Amino acid sequence: MSDIKSKEWFERAKCHIPGGVNSPVRAFGSVGRTPRFIASAKGSKIKDVDGNEMIDYVCSWGPAILGHAHPRVIAAVQQACEEGLTYGAPTSKEVLIAELIAKLMPSMEVSRLVNSGTEAVMSAIRTARGYTKRDKIIKFKGCYHGHSDGLLVKAGSAALTTSIPDSAGVPKDYTKHTLIALYNDKISVEKLFQANPKEIAAVIVEPVAANMGVVLPEQGFLEFLREITKQYGALLIFDEVITGFRLGIGGAQAYYNITPDLTTLGKIVGGGMPIGAYGGKREIMQMVSPLGSVYQAGTLSGNPIATAAGLETLRILKEDPMIYERLEEKTKILTKTVQKAAGNRVWINQIGSLFSVFFTKQPVKDYESAISSDTNCYTDYFGYLLEHGIYIAPSQFEAVFVSDAHTKEDIDTTCKVIESYFGDI
Ligand SMILES: *Cc1c(COP(=O)(O)O)cnc(C)c1O
Repeated sequence: MSDIKSKEWFERAKCHIPGGVNSPVRAFGSVGRTPRFIASAKGSKIKDVDGNEMIDYVCSWGPAILGHAHPRVIAAVQQACEEGLTYGAPTSKEVLIAELIAKLMPSMEVSRLVNSGTEAVMSAIRTARGYTKRDKIIKFKGCYHGHSDGLLVKAGSAALTTSIPDSAGVPKDYTKHTLIALYNDKISVEKLFQANPKEIAAVIVEPVAANMGVVLPEQGFLEFLREITKQYGALLIFDEVITGFRLGIGGAQAYYNITPDLTTLGKIVGGGMPIGAYGGKREIMQMVSPLGSVYQAGTLSGNPIATAAGLETLRILKEDPMIYERLEEKTKILTKTVQKAAGNRVWINQIGSLFSVFFTKQPVKDYESAISSDTNCYTDYFGYLLEHGIYIAPSQFEAVFVSDAHTKEDIDTTCKVIESYFGDI
């Protein structure tokens, strides 16, 4: 498998783009390789500039749940292009997608479209603060909510009570209202509420964490968050940028039957185009301008091309009641194969069409156990799969995404490569 052209493009890219990429994980830094430059993608396959065709389990980090370039989505986009690229004025498609989102996720009675998951989360938090008239928020170590200043935080040494910026360029003052709790650890949340009973505007959580690898909420954890936020007058924000329309048509909130106050969406909701959305109860969302005093705007928000792609994707998902069963069935074939081939060398977390293979022997239930993984083993595994035409995330701490376009043959091929890898080492 040659990667000569990818290497050439990467060298050129590094001259004028930081690290040669427009989003850091794409640089293959943690697996010490040259990223593949992609020329095209169709269905379950992705093709690089050297002509290598690979079975894609990155799926653009989630959006491509129908596979790449689904004919109906492409047709909707083409049609929308004919009608003009952007107007900066309202369109009927925005109404249709807001209605559909409210139908599929009833907690999102009122929603606003933005251009990325980062923007959705940033705006949801501003809304929560405006509504509760409080400043502090709680987030969980290992959960990712985009790259806005106040969320690039790691826990400080003082027993999770101080937070320090996790990125240069973020003033300490911007993160001082972000409190860090531990995923699946109720006591860490309780302590923060007890210490700040009237100051916490919201708890934001990935209902299934998927940015430290996939980590499932333990039984009762999400219920507990629902209860304690209510008790203290704080809002519960589910960041469903990955889980929304992924775990099921109603997202994690339907899967676990928990109603958050606000929800953030991204990835699938744009059907491969840049869209984020945030929304919730009318009473809360009417805080947002022009109705209320929480300012939030966007020149390209609700862009007609992006909205067409998102709307068509949601319609396809809604029309096919079996899609989520098919996705899970294929995913389980993969995880069973890895488990059988790798035995106790790995720990696997799986839900729906998401899973992670952690190279650790201990159960992975939070950030600490996730980072016990041997990333060198992952690098080796990643490299073997890539060389054999299987494209998975270039990082241990990302999910494998299965799409509706993955065929039985794709799954069989993938299983054979996995079996031969673990058989060889
Ligand atoms: C990807 C992601 C984001 C950020 O979305 P962008 O579109 O990359 O800005 C936020 N939250 C979660 C849970 C994500 O997975």
